Amino acid sequence: MHEILATQDPEIAAAIADDIRRQTDEINLIASENYASSAVLEATGSVLTNKYAEGYPGRRYYAGCENADTVETLAIDRVNALFGTEAANVQSHSGSQANMAAYFATLTPGDRILGMQLDQGGHLTHGSPVNFSGKLYEFASYGVLREEETIDYEAMATTAREFKPALIVTGATAYSRIIDFARFREISDEVGAVLLVDMAHIAGLIAGGVHPSPAPYADLITSTTHKTLRGPRGAIILSRRSFARKVNSAVFPNSQGGPMVHAIAAKAVAFAEAATPGFKDYAAAIVANAQALAGALAGGGLRIVSGGTDNHLMLVDVSTRDITGQEAEDTLRAAGIIANKNAIPFDPLPPRVTSGLRLGTPAVTSRGMGQADMDTIAGFILEALDAGGGDSALASIRSRVKRFTSAFSVPGISGS
Ligand SMILES: *Cc1c(COP(=O)(O)O)cnc(C)c1O
Repeated sequence: MHEILATQDPEIAAAIADDIRRQTDEINLIASENYASSAVLEATGSVLTNKYAEGYPGRRYYAGCENADTVETLAIDRVNALFGTEAANVQSHSGSQANMAAYFATLTPGDRILGMQLDQGGHLTHGSPVNFSGKLYEFASYGVLREEETIDYEAMATTAREFKPALIVTGATAYSRIIDFARFREISDEVGAVLLVDMAHIAGLIAGGVHPSPAPYADLITSTTHKTLRGPRGAIILSRRSFARKVNSAVFPNSQGGPMVHAIAAKAVAFAEAATPGFKDYAAAIVANAQALAGALAGGGLRIVSGGTDNHLMLVDVSTRDITGQEAEDTLRAAGIIANKNAIPFDPLPPRVTSGLRLGTPAVTSRGMGQADMDTIAGFILEALDAGGGDSALASIRSRVKRFTSAFSVPGISGS
């Protein structure tokens, strides 16, 4: 792989080769990551990166955009067909920029937004004070019920009535249950708010039909393309036709210059892949695997937040093992299992430490692992967490993890 690069720039080539090994040898349980297909990687690495195409298909500011127009038109048509939406902008470079554009398209700075509390599953762009969102807009938040650890729709409605937000945003980075989009629509209508659904984490599950679609309810939908959707790094904004012009100008020229035509091509490839029957099976397997993993970990005495999962991820409360989320992350990493610490609802520990782990199954499912393999992975996790940080015990698990993963090909690396 990468023969020309290896000759011309051995340092970068070596780092890429190391990461190919890392991605192959380790068990990747990062809920926001995945393995893109060879076709997606080829489009991402194509010469379309050379093209400036400011503007939109048929209305460009540069000459020579006919192939860029073909690519972008295909991406737009495919994603609208995939999610049943009226309008799509496929130029956003990232999920954060898509959210920025969605806010710019519908609000003026200083307006009010109601979003999910960050330490209970929301995203930085849903009102963090260190993010543009918290600096430009006034936020109030909703969270989860203390007992059930599911979204407190009643409290959300009460806050919406008092706060009167111009926009309500839902969607999460660390929430394992089905989101009731109809309920959000009802409250948005009652208080006259625009409804934005940020489906970044669950887009692939929605495309595969295993999570209800926000399309009938949302005014705007933003999403990354690189998480469960298995596309290239990037994002999209879907909307009702009445918002399309404002969304387009909020992306370009308001917040971006030229689009990444190579990334748009790769998005188009991913949208076509996500429309296949095989992708429906993949999405169903992600959820079945998450439920199997959660069940096996619970069987081993770990507490799963909200008692389980309906989607691709779970939050694991590791305080029952007398360790912190940070210690659990470090321990698993030493055992060849990659996951991230994450705050659990009402976490007594600070965000740099936390009491939880976020585990997701999109990447391992892309490697063809099934429910029996989730039992094996749960076994590794439980053994590692009980190893008390012992180096030799963790090294032993690491070598067994490597042997285990060697039986599974990796899309884009050792498979298609
Ligand atoms: C990942 C994510 C984003 C941001 O995506 P980036 O591409 O990292 O900027 C936004 N919202 C939610 C809910 C996410 O999970």
